[in-house]
Amino acid sequence: MTNPILSAWTTPFEIAPFAEISDDDFAPALDKAMDAHNAQIDAIANNSDPASFANTIEALEAAGEQIDKVLSVFFTVAGADSNPAREELQREFSPKLSAHFSGISSNKALFRRVADLWVRKDQLDLTDEQARVLMLTHRGFVRAGSALEGNDDTRMQEIKSRLATLGTSFTQNLLADEREWFMNLTENDLEGLPGFVVDAARAAGDEKGADGPVVTLSRSLIVPFLQFSPRRDLREKAYRAWTARGANGGETDNREIAAEILNLREERAKLLGYSSFADYKLETEMARTPDRVRDLLMQVWEPAKARADSDAETLTAMMQEDGINGPLEAWDWRYYAEKRRKAEHDLDEAALKPYLQLDRMIEAAFSCANRLFGLEFAPLDVPLYHSDCRAWDVTRDGQHIAVFIGDYFARGSKRSGAWCSAMRSQAKFPKVQAPVVINVCNFAKGDPALLSYDDARTLFHEFGHALHQMLSNVTYESISGTSVARDFVELPSQLYEHWLEVPEVLAEFATHAESGEPMPQDMLKKVLKAANFDQGFQTVEYVASALVDLAFHEGEAPADPMAKQAEVLDGIDMPHAIGMRHATPHFAHVFAGDGYSSGYYSYMWSEVMDADAFAAFEEAGGAFDTERAKALEDNILSTGGSREAEELYLAFRGRLPGVEALLKGRGLIATCPDQ
Ligand SMILES: [Zn+2]
Repeated sequence: MTNPILSAWTTPFEIAPFAEISDDDFAPALDKAMDAHNAQIDAIANNSDPASFANTIEALEAAGEQIDKVLSVFFTVAGADSNPAREELQREFSPKLSAHFSGISSNKALFRRVADLWVRKDQLDLTDEQARVLMLTHRGFVRAGSALEGNDDTRMQEIKSRLATLGTSFTQNLLADEREWFMNLTENDLEGLPGFVVDAARAAGDEKGADGPVVTLSRSLIVPFLQFSPRRDLREKAYRAWTARGANGGETDNREIAAEILNLREERAKLLGYSSFADYKLETEMARTPDRVRDLLMQVWEPAKARADSDAETLTAMMQEDGINGPLEAWDWRYYAEKRRKAEHDLDEAALKPYLQLDRMIEAAFSCANRLFGLEFAPLDVPLYHSDCRAWDVTRDGQHIAVFIGDYFARGSKRSGAWCSAMRSQAKFPKVQAPVVINVCNFAKGDPALLSYDDARTLFHEFGHALHQMLSNVTYESISGTSVARDFVELPSQLYEHWLEVPEVLAEFATHAESGEPMPQDMLKKVLKAANFDQGFQTVEYVASALVDLAFHEGEAPADPMAKQAEVLDGIDMPHAIGMRHATPHFAHVFAGDGYSSGYYSYMWSEVMDADAFAAFEEAGGAFDTERAKALEDNILSTGGSREAEELYLAFRGRLPGVEALLKGRGLIATCPDQ
């Protein structure tokens, strides 16, 4: 029997044949794929011809096609639809893959060929894109430790392998803690909760096999519970459980794992000659240095904290009116902020929600992409890994551009959060391939499924990432789509969120689930005004996490990360009633892998640009200005990592933005005197 993962995929658009693949296929497929890849690598490294771009760099680009197939399928289901077998496989694969890729970067013969090309780069007559791929390949090898010899080399391999294992454990502990905990609610406990929260709590109860509604630690359920439940005791219990994820003692505790990870990262950076892990990490980013990051964060922190402090006073007064004395606590903030929102903006999230139907918001995201870039979306009937998944054929002028898959609903088998990944990336070498892109979210199910405004923003955000993948138009896969600097990658996604706030978009697509009526003008105005509501809180919880992340990776690794976290929060005078958006034991961005380590700031770095980039549309004549849309596609959405991020932004905008645009965007500084 041939392995369905490694066979030719005869499905429409060569989407993985999920229905034919069983969990037993993954391990043998990965072994075979790694063997094939090793044979390809050996052939490149031991080629008796002198190194050329074609026989070395292009050959590397073309190699590993089977591994891509196995991993794209495996990581899709392991993240979005896991089970004990897949978790076990993930534990097994993680060190294997780490060893495999380390094996390539420690292949001295291979590195010599790349280094040889690098030295002769000016005589190779390369296109700009080829020169860029050579630079990135060479830099990647050096940063992976390929130039290390002897004991340093050995130690580097050990560190990398251990880090991969620790990252996986961190994620799995978190998942276990999230799955384990739920809080039963009696019918009385449902008082004060709007219908959609009650529905979600009942659905969660069914899923957990509980005897009635429950609150789980899924963000899409616990956040509205904290926002609406008048039961302070239950809010406290739920909040404490939510923030204790990864810090519950016992087998799933992540605190020691975090300490070990930080230690190993520091050692790794020093082996490579950097003074700290942050220095190493930021070298390839648009920000470049820890100082530039801290500068940006502190410029935002001051006005955000000032706003949060004054908001805390208002909320405390409201709480005292309820007869509760003592300080405002973290489990009180969202509840009183919601009350205040109702009082000041008269915007009732529960009344708003029927206007934000998932299907209509998907249409809205598609419609904007149509007006901006001419993309069209036709539903595609293909079997995927879960019945909740939907797919669309994306075309332009009748030409196939991509397949887009949406997997929107929360379930126990899915990790929390929302993400976008390419199951296949765009490339023209060694053959032309169109991307297959997936958005995974954790929205509460319903009939029809209704979103919060935050959910709708997440949908647009992830779709912005998807556009970055789908509109990619480069030759080499290694620089395609979202393969850009980490602090640049959130620009397309955060920029796309702005289109949700365009009044004509909401007017057309925010229609009532029952009556079909468009959102009343009055409500629409309030939604747009309220979008900046509570930004003191939001900015503070985010920046605090970003500063802790940066502090963890600058200088010496902390022996006790929890103490270091406390020290950082103390140093910035963290408001008492606001928790970090992600505290250390569940800070998956930083500890589940290397992706956002000393890089959590990058959302804000990107926001500086997205505010400024959207202003370019407004200045040019409106959100759907075609010339600006073309400039965006030509210089940012289609270019992947083919040029430095700063260069790309300058080509689009003609200048770099300052922090002011962001502060205005968040409503933290006044845009005109009467605000
Ligand atoms: Zn994102």
